Amino acid sequence: MTQAWKGIAASPGIAIARAFHLASERFIPTQQTIQDSASEVERFRQAVAVSREEVEAIRASAEERLGADKAEIFEGHLMILEDPDLIEAIEEKIADEAVNAEFALHEVSQSFIELLQSMSDELLRGRAIDIEDVSGRMMSHLRGVPHMDLANLSEECIIVARDLTPSDTAQLNLEVVRGFITEVGSRTSHSAIMARSLEIPAIVGAGSAVNEIPEFSTIIMDANQGVILVNPSSEELESYQDKKQKDDVRRTELKGLRDQPTLSKDGKQVELAANIGSLEDIARAIDNGAEGIGLFRTEFLYMGRSSLPTEEEQFTSYKYALEKMNPKPVVIRTLDIGGDKELPYMELPKESNPFLGQRALRLCLDRQELFRTQLRALLRASRYGNLKIMFPMIAVLEELLEAKKLLEEEKQKLIAEGVQLAEHIEVGMMVEIPAAAVAADLFAPEVDFFSIGTNDLIQYTMAADRMNETVSYLYQPWHPSLLRLIRLVIQAAEKEGKWVGMCGEMAGDHTAIPLLLGLGLHEFSMSSGAILQARELIGQLDRSEWSDYANQALTMRSTQEITQFVEHTRNGVTQHD
Ligand code: PEP
Ligand code: MG
Repeated sequence: MTQAWKGIAASPGIAIARAFHLASERFIPTQQTIQDSASEVERFRQAVAVSREEVEAIRASAEERLGADKAEIFEGHLMILEDPDLIEAIEEKIADEAVNAEFALHEVSQSFIELLQSMSDELLRGRAIDIEDVSGRMMSHLRGVPHMDLANLSEECIIVARDLTPSDTAQLNLEVVRGFITEVGSRTSHSAIMARSLEIPAIVGAGSAVNEIPEFSTIIMDANQGVILVNPSSEELESYQDKKQKDDVRRTELKGLRDQPTLSKDGKQVELAANIGSLEDIARAIDNGAEGIGLFRTEFLYMGRSSLPTEEEQFTSYKYALEKMNPKPVVIRTLDIGGDKELPYMELPKESNPFLGQRALRLCLDRQELFRTQLRALLRASRYGNLKIMFPMIAVLEELLEAKKLLEEEKQKLIAEGVQLAEHIEVGMMVEIPAAAVAADLFAPEVDFFSIGTNDLIQYTMAADRMNETVSYLYQPWHPSLLRLIRLVIQAAEKEGKWVGMCGEMAGDHTAIPLLLGLGLHEFSMSSGAILQARELIGQLDRSEWSDYANQALTMRSTQEITQFVEHTRNGVTQHD
């Protein structure tokens, strides 16, 4: 019989495939005495050889699909598999102590991992993660159980997991992964955002459902509604196949708007831009008719690897993005690490409130070398396109001024070195902290633009963790408090003749778009997959009418009142036509 479950619809689409569980627990072997240690050593060598072949294949496919920078991590894995200090120590333990290969592997690799984790050198600590990964692979081969490789999955499946890290998500083999379902998370957790940029259906925050889905069972996931059907009947399968087909047809129809400008019904032009988290996202942005990149989340250049990207590597990535989009604008945000985005190889102290801690620009101002490297790479890339630099997580004016000062210093150094830079580079800030929104007038003279980051602005305004599904009811983009903050930001910018964008998820929301248009937002930046529908919607809206409606909405008392008003007005206006 079909079992039905509900989760949070995080990235739209319908998928039908078998469930594949991504196990998070690690296997701990027991010690056994071995009679024939020579053949046990041989068994271990076999596991090493198979692992090496496997990693070589993954490295080659990662290089082809994701580029050389993302494939580099697997070079490190190959080096570990060839490292005599580790491999010989395991073989000696098997031979000298007559123990089983699994136990020797676990004991020796664990001692390496612990030693490396205690080092102050970031690079060495990063190697601990690689050893953990590689020893897990060897262990799987010794035990004869398949190793879970997200990049190397070969059968169509829907991934079911407690959570997926952003780098897990980046490694998914999209040829076969039809979607994913996680136990934890919310619409604005980063795995959800990644799913939208990859245009793959995702349901997050599904809670205990995740443990109730049997491995390899057939499931339907309707990520438009957040519905999961396990072992569906043949009627259900038929009906969802039909829905999926209609969904696909609608997507094709929308592609007709790809090269159209974004105009409201009364002819006002706004910009629809894409949020990207990797260079591969650029092709998707262009394919979905993005008029620019409104948010390039550079932290993904720093993730899924074991050391910081060099200035040269960053320069190459930024140059690529700018050239691909030229002459369209590319807003590149400086590193926003911390919160739910961790870099295991960096010495980031554990914090009890990571979202309120040393995150993003706070960290960059503290670790200036890290920040200066990124600024130099950005400045050097500037002459290859239409670059705009954006600083995240600013609370007070001093932070903005300090970031601008460092940028200016690096600029002067480069000019002195004879490096050619773009003549003018716009510099802006994200408005993600209520303090910055309320005092936007203080910041406006100092920036070229604002971009409102509602994912964080909502969590900080409502004091509701964006990762915590139990408080997701407080995630209310349309609440009067949010709309008032947004209006303050737009008014402050307009007074100084500056433009305002929005790059939080709210910018692509169909209830929010009419209000934001009415409030005078200039640029809407969203997941590529949402752009064409937004263009269609804006074409049906009269901006001057919505300016009045937005003012009315601002006097309402609750999210419910506002959303009902918007839906009603929108439908009313459409019916009138
Ligand atoms: C935001 O906070 O709205 C935003 C766009 O930044 P991120 O989601 O990367 O924190
Ligand atoms: Mg943010």
